[in-house]
Amino acid sequence: MFGRGSFNQLGDVIASKRLTPDSYFVFVLDDVFTGKPLEKRLPMQGRDLLLPVNVDDEPKTSYIDKLVAQIRAYSPVKPDGIVGIGGGSTLDIAKAISLMLNNPGSSADYQGWDLIKNPSVYHVAVPTLAGTGAEISRTAILTGPVKKLGINSDYTLFHQIVLDPELLAGVPTDQWFYTGMDCYIHDIESLQGTFINEFSKAYGEKSLELCRQVFLEDHPDKDDKLMMASYFGGMSIAYSQVGACHALSYGLSYVLGIHHGIGCCIAFDYLEEIYPAGVEEFRRMMEKHKISLPRQLTVGLDDKALDLMVTTALNLVPLWENCLGPDWQKKMTRERCLALYKRM
Ligand code: NAD
Ligand code: ZN
Repeated sequence: MFGRGSFNQLGDVIASKRLTPDSYFVFVLDDVFTGKPLEKRLPMQGRDLLLPVNVDDEPKTSYIDKLVAQIRAYSPVKPDGIVGIGGGSTLDIAKAISLMLNNPGSSADYQGWDLIKNPSVYHVAVPTLAGTGAEISRTAILTGPVKKLGINSDYTLFHQIVLDPELLAGVPTDQWFYTGMDCYIHDIESLQGTFINEFSKAYGEKSLELCRQVFLEDHPDKDDKLMMASYFGGMSIAYSQVGACHALSYGLSYVLGIHHGIGCCIAFDYLEEIYPAGVEEFRRMMEKHKISLPRQLTVGLDDKALDLMVTTALNLVPLWENCLGPDWQKKMTRERCLALYKRM
């Protein structure tokens, strides 16, 4: 569903899914909205459970396991549905909870591809930030005890998505920019990658066009545009892959805890050799919105930490292959990767 005010239809949307007697819906709400008007607009009724989540740190498998236990303790009956309301982190939490309610063990057991055996509980996405494409992707990205990797499966996909551009009002400019650039970088990495195909190109080109309108021009409906850009960017990478920037941002995130959007911006600014036109345009976007990125993040790191960062990035084989081709290892050596990190 798309449109200003479409959030008001959420109650109607889930009404037809309230099927089990004594069951309930769980509203997974980014705690940034605690006590805010949006919280009061949730279409809660009966035994529905409000589950505020904190995303100061990106979602961890231990946090998912804790939230699932909390729902199980709340009622022996399974919820009829989960609604995730927030940015990419909250949407990923909602996806992971809905999977884990129907699959045994810890969420860490399912980090990988197609490891989930049973379909998820019905789940709905309501993004309040735009850019990650988490509303449409088949992954729920989690940091586990040994790796940062998504639960990738067809069951991860949301059953329903409510895109209401009004929900983007009030996002601080920096956060709006970082998450929006995640989308811009998805497009550049998809379109310039070796895995590109007509499906990904169709969505990626439209998403890129919308990003340019949002970040280089002035439009009163820029939030509508960014929501669609995010969705299309997600569709584009669904059938291709991201590239060098995302691989490097995973290393920053794993070792330094830097969030996805800002991590992508930090890494992208040093990738002019690989994405010259994209980086030039990105810098114009930063200038227009007066964004300054943190620098010298790796200065105090010892060799072990830097080594782990390089390993984390280079382990993402499909991303490098998409970016640099099958002989990527000759082009992105450990030394080159380390040199890039040292500049950050
Ligand atoms: P986020 O969800 O981590 O939120 C960033 C900050 O913005 C938080 O402090 C949050 O409370 C706040 N926030 C959210 N909505 C707000 C609003 N309307 N007004 C004010 N503040 C608001 O940010 P994100 O960039 O959307 O998501 C990043 C996460 O998404 C990472 O965990 C990343 O791993 C994940 N991700 C997932 C996919 C996927 O396909 N599943 C793709 C890319 C990134
Ligand atoms: Zn991304």
